[in-house]
Amino acid sequence: MSTSPRGADLPTAATPTRAERLERLEAETFDLLVIGGGAIGASTAWAAARAGARVALVDGGDAAGATSSASSKLVHGGLRYLGLGDVKLVREAHRERRWNARLVAPHLVRPLQFILPVGPETPHRPTEIRLGVFVYGALSGFRDGRTGRLKPAEAYRLAPGLRHDAERTYVAYHDHQTDDARLVLAALRTAEVMGAVWLNYARVEGLRITGGTVAGADVVDVVSGERFAISASAVVNATGPWVDHLRRLEDPGAAASVRLSKGAHLVLECSEPWHAAVTSPLPEGRVSFAIPWHGMLLLGTTDEPFEGDPATVRPTEADQAQILGEAATSLASDVVDPARVRSAFAGLRVLPLGDTSTAGTRRETVVTVGKAGMISVAGGKLTTWRRIGVNVATQALASTGGPLPDAHPAPLVGAADPDVVRAELERRYPELPNGSAAHLAGLYGTLAYDVLEPARSEPELLEPIVPGGPDVLAQARYAVEHEAAVTTDDILRRRTTVALRGFEAEGRERVTRFLPVSQARPNEPARS
Ligand SMILES: Cc1cc2nc3c(=O)[nH]c(=O)nc-3n(C[C@H](O)[C@H](O)[C@H](O)COP(=O)(O)OP(=O)(O)OC[C@H]3O[C@@H](n4cnc5c(N)ncnc54)[C@H](O)[C@@H]3O)c2cc1C
Repeated sequence: MSTSPRGADLPTAATPTRAERLERLEAETFDLLVIGGGAIGASTAWAAARAGARVALVDGGDAAGATSSASSKLVHGGLRYLGLGDVKLVREAHRERRWNARLVAPHLVRPLQFILPVGPETPHRPTEIRLGVFVYGALSGFRDGRTGRLKPAEAYRLAPGLRHDAERTYVAYHDHQTDDARLVLAALRTAEVMGAVWLNYARVEGLRITGGTVAGADVVDVVSGERFAISASAVVNATGPWVDHLRRLEDPGAAASVRLSKGAHLVLECSEPWHAAVTSPLPEGRVSFAIPWHGMLLLGTTDEPFEGDPATVRPTEADQAQILGEAATSLASDVVDPARVRSAFAGLRVLPLGDTSTAGTRRETVVTVGKAGMISVAGGKLTTWRRIGVNVATQALASTGGPLPDAHPAPLVGAADPDVVRAELERRYPELPNGSAAHLAGLYGTLAYDVLEPARSEPELLEPIVPGGPDVLAQARYAVEHEAAVTTDDILRRRTTVALRGFEAEGRERVTRFLPVSQARPNEPARS
């Protein structure tokens, strides 16, 4: 094991090609192999690489292609978990929320005010809600802004889609929002700069067990169909909804360790900018969120037990009707008009086993160690992703006798004040479409300079991917050359915001040319 712990402020190294990644995976012996490139796998790889370990990570689909691009995109303490009595989870989530926003990725984790409408039909009494919001603010040291009652006019100004209702009072609190898939990509990029190697479209189909101990995996390169093996001293299974499938590769008799619950979201166009999100309390402790997201409105989510193949999860017409109906408890009818829906997506929560309803189940991380020593981790929250990764990497590297990860947070590559990056982008590229400088600063931080560099010699790369949108063609080029994008879906859905804005077909035509001919192939099954 190499022993030099690395800082996070490293210059970005040349990005390896897919062939170079494959070559390393086959040739080297790693301290740690992480299976699964969602938020938890990425943060585990990052923590281990930061400790100086030799790290490999593979994902059977695209990085963040499953749950970690299908969340509500909130970095939050989780107000509703207070209602479940989970003070410890809320306190820890608040702490991680602040680290994410201040140090880890200030460009990607943005503050957001929330408004809770309280009326006669609300499942909790107004005093209970005000007390809950007070405790919630107290658990974060009241460091995020004013909590408590808002004048209706102020609430309607901040969230212009709120239904005007004289019987309601409005209560404010604060959390953060992010772009989940981009956060994962930033962590993988950071791990890569620190020496880790990661590969998407590389599915683990078997585990290598030597002397009763897991020592690597058999992998299929989904792009070429070729098979190869990876050798590693420790293996972490961070495959989210597939966690038990992988556990059974180690021990065919392993009993289920988790259950799944499906959550769907809709993205709607809105006619006026929103400056705050709305949290509508629903029965059974559930809430309906209406969240401003890149000039649009993100609505969700549902919470239904799911027992099928995780790869088949899709949003349905029934999900759409439920989401719009629940949002309508607080929003004006023209805001939740089905004609405004631009896209939809669905993902699977991984929950501890139990008899309670999925909505009432605590969002705990489930960690198990299998017969051959594979560490499996699933569940938890995007908000606490960094901490979960540090804990799992520590457990895994302890078994190899290597140096352990630093639990203290560190910045991801690109971490910066987005306003500073925006101003610099505007200075360097005055011809950027309106809104693109702020958009790129938020998605990439200082890496936005690298994204746009090729546009100095090819100015057409500054054109929007779809007219009127803030994503530009240079992002598609960057996605393929530096972010391992293999399909148009990877570019449009997870590296840019084009697909969620509802411009998938138009976008596809414009970005296909950036993929190598060998990779310009049909997309993997869409998740929305
Ligand atoms: C509807 C919904 C809303 C949510 N909203 C929030 C929120 O607002 N805030 C918050 O903090 N949390 C939220 N969460 C929780 C959060 O999204 C998850 O905790 C987090 O994304 C889980 O990440 P993961 O890495 O464990 O799993 P995943 O992101 O699912 O990653 C698992 C990866 O493993 C890969 N894989 C599977 N099998 C194999 C194999 N054989 N070989 C190689 N790779 C494989 C998959 O392709 C996948 O990419 C939400 C979850 C859901 C479902």
